[in-house]
Amino acid sequence: MPNRVVVVGGGVVGACCAYYLAKSGRCVTVVDRAQFGAGCSHANCGYVCPSHVLPFATPGAVWSTMKTLFARNSPLKVRPRVALANLGWFLGFARKCNTRDMMAAGRAIQALTASSRALFETLIATEQIECEWETKGLLFVYQTVKEFEHYVHTNDFLTREFSAPAKRFDSGELAALEPALKPGMAGGYLYESDAHLRPDKLMSEFKRVLLSLGVEIRENCAVSGFTKVNGVASAVRTNAGDIAADAFVVATGAWAPQLDSELGCRVPIQPGKGYSLTMPRPALCPTYPLIFEEHRVAVTPFASGYRLGSTMEFAGYDETLNRSRLSLLTDAAKLYLRDPLAEPVQEEWWGWRPMTYDSLPIIDHAPAATNVLIAAGHNMLGLTMAPATGKLVAEMLADGKTHIDAAPYSLKRF
Ligand SMILES: Cc1cc2nc3c(=O)[nH]c(=O)nc-3n(C[C@H](O)[C@H](O)[C@H](O)COP(=O)(O)OP(=O)(O)OC[C@H]3O[C@@H](n4cnc5c(N)ncnc54)[C@H](O)[C@@H]3O)c2cc1C
Repeated sequence: MPNRVVVVGGGVVGACCAYYLAKSGRCVTVVDRAQFGAGCSHANCGYVCPSHVLPFATPGAVWSTMKTLFARNSPLKVRPRVALANLGWFLGFARKCNTRDMMAAGRAIQALTASSRALFETLIATEQIECEWETKGLLFVYQTVKEFEHYVHTNDFLTREFSAPAKRFDSGELAALEPALKPGMAGGYLYESDAHLRPDKLMSEFKRVLLSLGVEIRENCAVSGFTKVNGVASAVRTNAGDIAADAFVVATGAWAPQLDSELGCRVPIQPGKGYSLTMPRPALCPTYPLIFEEHRVAVTPFASGYRLGSTMEFAGYDETLNRSRLSLLTDAAKLYLRDPLAEPVQEEWWGWRPMTYDSLPIIDHAPAATNVLIAAGHNMLGLTMAPATGKLVAEMLADGKTHIDAAPYSLKRF
């Protein structure tokens, strides 16, 4: 059993891996090329949402994705040059847009999200994590009767196939439930078992908890590869020297493909860029976390603030902040909310979601070294799936007995 473990990547996935490894008695070091918690895990929408069982690739999604190649400003945007340069990824996505693969992915997503939802409760209570954790649920809001009525079928389907029902609220009931909404919304669906938290607070609390468990955290420490002998890694090579260990976990999110040659495989992850805007709470702040379904924009009311977030752009590793993408967030909020914005804007942010084409993370041993595990590619649900991923990784590095079946997350599927 490995005693010393290096976790590469200090996002929410790496933090959870480090936590469960430290809890099982390992001596853990987390290394991050930048600051712990400053990647995609920093200012996401904060939803812990087992309601989100369906993958990105569903029947019909090819057509809706194709349309974005020519659309100027849709919530989902694929840059044509990125599609061409990464044709294999997009063809893989197209192949997955069928009912059989959607159902299989849905079951594998649900296994991780359901496990994580329960683990979050224990983790937060045991470690007294102060991250503005709230269990109010998640409210999907519809502006148009057409889309609201269409969701009846999705709700029936999710109830039947995944035991994931939402509570329906007609127009008047919705107005009473969430007074922050403008009058005249068509209706909504409430997923009562979802929860939310403040991601930056979660990450700073994780840092505190990990340090208290004796985990070493090394920031500004970029990993470029592994020292390997006969298929076994003995150290990570970093810009600050080698760090020796008995096992290694690569939890580098959207950056994972940069270590492809060292891992001995092609990790099919594309950065899916999303944005958020963080402000103080408006005078009439929503009670519930909201998703505006027609515009694909999310609103998270925190005890200490308020966030608009979402949009998905396949623009490669582009580090620019595109103001027109931020405007999509504020424009949508103005359509649904009485008091949509507050001053001053405290943070304008973008992050790279680590997108695989089948919406499932990769949690598997790297082909190049038996003692290197990959835990990356958590798509739009990395926060929601992180605790179960961390637990799974700790189990895989122990006796291999896992609390959920790890087969769907294996590299063999590609
Ligand atoms: C707008 C937006 C909203 C979202 N909302 C939600 C939500 O509500 N709920 C949810 O579940 N998910 C949400 N997500 C998705 C979620 O944020 C991601 O899936 C998750 O943060 C991924 O975590 P990670 O630890 O894999 O990656 P990251 O948090 O990006 O961490 C990876 C870390 O690896 C480090 N790293 C990379 N390469 C190296 C290297 N070579 N050496 C050392 N370190 C390295 C990076 O510096 C980084 O800190 C959202 C994403 C976005 C963009």
